[in-house]
Amino acid sequence: MSISEDLFNRSRAVIPGGVNSPVRAFNSVGGVPPFMVEAQGPYLTDADGRNYVDLVMSWGPALLGHRDSSVVEAVHKAVEHGLSFGASTEAEVELAELVIERINAVIPGSIDQIRMVSTGTEATMTAIRLARGYTGRDKIIKFAGCYHGHVDALLSEAGSGVATLAMPGSAGVTAATAAETIVLPYNDTQAVQRAFEQHHGQIAAIITEAAPCNMGVVTPEAGFNRFLHDTAHENGALLIFDEVLTGFRVSSAGYWGYTTEDEGGWAPDIFTFGKVIGGGMPIAALGGKREVMEYLAPLGPVYQAGTLSGNPISLAAGIATLKAATEDVYQTINQRSEELQKAIHSYGEKLGLNYSIQHAGNLFSLSFGTAEHGVHHYDDIKASETFRYQAFFHSMLNSGVYLPPSAFEAWFLSASHNDTAMDRILSALPEALEEAAQAQPA
Ligand code: PLP
Repeated sequence: MSISEDLFNRSRAVIPGGVNSPVRAFNSVGGVPPFMVEAQGPYLTDADGRNYVDLVMSWGPALLGHRDSSVVEAVHKAVEHGLSFGASTEAEVELAELVIERINAVIPGSIDQIRMVSTGTEATMTAIRLARGYTGRDKIIKFAGCYHGHVDALLSEAGSGVATLAMPGSAGVTAATAAETIVLPYNDTQAVQRAFEQHHGQIAAIITEAAPCNMGVVTPEAGFNRFLHDTAHENGALLIFDEVLTGFRVSSAGYWGYTTEDEGGWAPDIFTFGKVIGGGMPIAALGGKREVMEYLAPLGPVYQAGTLSGNPISLAAGIATLKAATEDVYQTINQRSEELQKAIHSYGEKLGLNYSIQHAGNLFSLSFGTAEHGVHHYDDIKASETFRYQAFFHSMLNSGVYLPPSAFEAWFLSASHNDTAMDRILSALPEALEEAAQAQPA
């Protein structure tokens, strides 16, 4: 028995399903998840000493690569001064200023303030509470296949692990809570308009991923985000732009910085951030214009708090990450992403494989059986041939490449993915795609 198998058995005895986040259990691809002992640059090493090129990168935070020296140094320095103060620190101000500066570099005045929390889930939970408090309305629009964390109101037809496990939502969410969430098909402008007509004066906000990455990647149709903003505003509602995953990953200002050139002149009312702004440590945030943000306590009536909010060690990692995330970093990641997509296309076409790649900047995902229509919303990816992804995934894993263990997730590259790491991925691809081509449904 391998050490990972042994650990998984021990883990299943004391942790439900053996994992602390469902997608780690490998349910949709099968097999035993390797237990990791070390992460460095683009590599992971498991308990059995096997080394993998990582294309998950902690699900996004490790933009620079694992344990980047500037981040580790900043964390060491911060530890010398205290693990948690439960009081305000300069580092909180510094990270807030860095985030605001980057967002406003796209369109000045897009965002005035941010409030820091510890997880993306807390950020979106607070964002919808704030939108409800600000508008005095209860209902929320979300899109099927978008994932915004495990907030009760946002689990209906959610992506990520909920989609991977083919769950329609979650038990334990009250019917009253679920009834306040209107779930619509992504990229469907008419459905949004109809919802505002049907629920006139009741909708507090639309929440959307800036570009969906939790049903695999889905590219927003040109002008869709702008349409959401304008339609929300025409109806007295807010737009919450969830950049927990895309934020500061697809450009120096996230998806906001990636697309607004051709859609200029508007800004979401509330942004949510996470992942990259913590550089691998727990930190997330919501931000927006002063008028909305000052509805939060202690100034306003919407309550939100956190014992470890703005934790100094997390802040040190986040600040060091953002400071190191120069244009060169984004260019490297973009280039690596293009290289990888090109290689998939080259082998995929040779094999006559039925597949498509969707991308949002440097984030992308590969789905099988989708060549004809592509993937524009959740139903498209649900109809894809996930059994081919299983075969593909295991072949890559055997060749030392660690992909997301689900067809419903994005692939993450980092600035540390050098030629050696890329070579391993590129040489593993032909066999893995061939296995995908030959796979049969279970
Ligand atoms: N929003 C998006 C778009 C996400 O991708 C995620 C997590 O993957 C979340 C929110 C929730 O973040 P967390 O897992 O930190 O709670």
